[in-house]
Amino acid sequence: MALPVGPGGEQDAARMPSVERLLTSNAGYAAARAQLDNARPSQHLAVVTCMDARIDVFAALGLNLGESHVIRNAGGRVTDDVLRSLAISCNLLDVNAVVVMQHTKCGLAGITDAELQERTGAELDFFSISDHGHALREDIDLLAAKPYLAPLKVIAGFVFNTETGVIDDVVRWERPPAD
Ligand SMILES: [Zn+2]
Repeated sequence: MALPVGPGGEQDAARMPSVERLLTSNAGYAAARAQLDNARPSQHLAVVTCMDARIDVFAALGLNLGESHVIRNAGGRVTDDVLRSLAISCNLLDVNAVVVMQHTKCGLAGITDAELQERTGAELDFFSISDHGHALREDIDLLAAKPYLAPLKVIAGFVFNTETGVIDDVVRWERPPAD
């Protein structure tokens, strides 16, 4: 996610999306759509990432439709709702690997929860990021420690560069073999 900055931001914010355009586009999509019957991600993968409009998750990671779950929120942080989704991914849909992907120029980086509460008027935990490496390690430790996520064998922490499209491979975790 990126917060609007600079001139033109307010003008852009006043623009409305056309819901009609979305529905017109859907008619063309539905006609050409590939049919997938299996809901299980064929790569046994779930990607947790930011809602930022500049990240095309499937293209950036070379994934195709049907291969991965994608769970997105502001910052790509591991919140309770992400844990809820992953509990289902791992236990009901055979997911055994997770990529947590943050990105450069994120609206949640370099800002505090207090500032975000002030700017949004929402008294919420925003999971703001002061350091990507630290935040990724924190989120990966959280995932690795959950007993109900025991099917997870591998977790990777990436930072996607929104200018170059290059991914920085920052943290890697693998479940130790059972005794
Ligand atoms: Zn972001």
